[in-house]
Amino acid sequence: MVVTQLPRFHYLVFKNPPPSFKFFPKPKVPIKSTASTLFSAPKSTLSTTEPIPITDFSLPDEPKLEISLDKLFIPPETQVSCDDSSLSTRILKGSNIVLSKYARDAQVVQAEFVKSSVRTEDCPSDGLPEFALVGRSNVGKSSLLNSLVRRKRLALTSKKPGKTQCINHFRINDSWYLVDLPGYGYASAPQELRTDWGKFTKDYFINRSTLVSVFLLIDASIPAKKIDLEYASWLGQNQVPMTLIFTKCDKRKKKKNGGKRPEENVKDFQELICGFFQTVPPWIMTSSVTNQGRDEILLHMAQLRNYWLKH
Ligand code: GDP
Repeated sequence: MVVTQLPRFHYLVFKNPPPSFKFFPKPKVPIKSTASTLFSAPKSTLSTTEPIPITDFSLPDEPKLEISLDKLFIPPETQVSCDDSSLSTRILKGSNIVLSKYARDAQVVQAEFVKSSVRTEDCPSDGLPEFALVGRSNVGKSSLLNSLVRRKRLALTSKKPGKTQCINHFRINDSWYLVDLPGYGYASAPQELRTDWGKFTKDYFINRSTLVSVFLLIDASIPAKKIDLEYASWLGQNQVPMTLIFTKCDKRKKKKNGGKRPEENVKDFQELICGFFQTVPPWIMTSSVTNQGRDEILLHMAQLRNYWLKH
């Protein structure tokens, strides 16, 4: 598994952030020069080539992703300075996420379906940290789950009759969970059922104490949908930690009817939701066809998880 392949995007990190620049969730250390932080970070098991350079050698005709410093997700206990020339090498490719010293043990070596629960109280009680995948039906959630665990059909478990409306737990490496939640916005579902999904998933988001972050999947091949904006808004307003996973980023062809490219839809989505959040949520561009973003999601999960376990 190699994470040092040619990057799709070229990062430009602006040196002068607006005064609203904030850390997430709270700065634990003052901002100072940190060239050594990256190199003293513990090694991840993800590849043998770490630390992971997001080297700036994109081709001239590749889309350029410009991220200002105030739009970056800077994990806690991570130091970033405005004049840090190595910063662009510490941003996960196709994302706004800065790597922290907690980004280790990211590799998935074992994955197994554990159980389907209909209520939060019925979920596993062993206290392991978990990440919940949620998104509109057809957004590519099953494909992403299978791609993360490198199994073609693991997520089929969640699609079996009787389990599509459940909280499905998959244990990874015997140490954490990936959780598949019911898809929302399925047009042909009866209204009553749709409302129920809302209630039960929202209860899970609010009351599940081992939930480290919700991963909200958004289809980047189409413009933002109202229901996705509503979900993002609800998570923001309820201060549920959220990472945006933009799916289907391989669908690059511009549609005749004014369709936009994935990176344009990603940018639009950020602008539409920025008012819902006090700090910028992390986001990653992915494709289950090309595996774009797979290693980045796992590294991001690893750094959130390892920080969560330590605090
Ligand atoms: P779910 O309903 O959210 O679980 O979505 P699925 O994983 O079943 O995917 C729905 C459809 O989108 C299927 O036809 C997939 O082949 C397709 N799909 C999923 N992920 C991608 C992707 O990254 N790129 C492309 N081009 N198609 C995808």
